[in-house]
Amino acid sequence: MAADKITPFVFDSLPVRGALISLSRSWRRILRDHDYDPTVRDVLGHAAAATGLIAQSLKFDGAITLQIQGGGGLQMLVMQCTNDFELRGMASADETAAAGSFGDLVRGAHCAITVDAGERPYQGIVEMAPSSLADSLENYFARSVQVPSHVALVSNESLSGGILLQQMPGQHGLDEDDWNRLGYLAATLTTADFDADDGLALVGKLFAEDDVRVFEPRPVVFRCRCSRRRTEEVLRMLGEEETREVLAERGRVDVTCEYCGRRRSFDPIDVANLFDNRAVAGPDSLQ
Ligand SMILES: [Zn+2]
Repeated sequence: MAADKITPFVFDSLPVRGALISLSRSWRRILRDHDYDPTVRDVLGHAAAATGLIAQSLKFDGAITLQIQGGGGLQMLVMQCTNDFELRGMASADETAAAGSFGDLVRGAHCAITVDAGERPYQGIVEMAPSSLADSLENYFARSVQVPSHVALVSNESLSGGILLQQMPGQHGLDEDDWNRLGYLAATLTTADFDADDGLALVGKLFAEDDVRVFEPRPVVFRCRCSRRRTEEVLRMLGEEETREVLAERGRVDVTCEYCGRRRSFDPIDVANLFDNRAVAGPDSLQ
């Protein structure tokens, strides 16, 4: 069984660096409370691998969010990875359209990548390619950050994996044929490759003709950053009227996190506190 990790590597004789990611436990945790259509699930799996790979490729202190929005069947997909490789993500799709192809799901959609590193958030946006998320991200790297890249992403119900190869900035002397060859090799990646191995040996097997230096892998974990305080903010944004309507209907307000499935309950006193900065009046204050 593959471990959840990112394995960085560089080619000794080519100005190319790369990373291989395999997600098993964290990927199954992302799927746990959802019942995604297989096409939607695969896009989410590709996004999980891609977001980890992008996080590995950058130096930052914060979180990277990959978001696909405005598509045909895919209403929204969000995948987030911190610089410590804590991953979470979810998707919502139009049920009637979900059974279609990838192209149908993302028709007209855009993919935004936000690097939120405190004071200077940075966002790049690319149109979704009708072929795959990997192709869309290659376009993103070429246009938004001017780093020629090969991206390969694979996914099924128990594994999400991928490879990112990037030309090293400021380097010359990379033969076009070599670059294309590496792209073809990366594209041969399948989920079955991770059955036997998920790191050093797999990198060696994929790029058998090249001398590759493999670095210490980094563990990836599922972790949701939701909290009661953030849930309260969501309810405040929803507004007092709507929140009180739900309260009147059900006697309490339950908010379930779409990333981790955790449910938080707000009773009438919680709701009163939420929308009233004054202390809740106790029986003593009744005159
Ligand atoms: Zn959560």
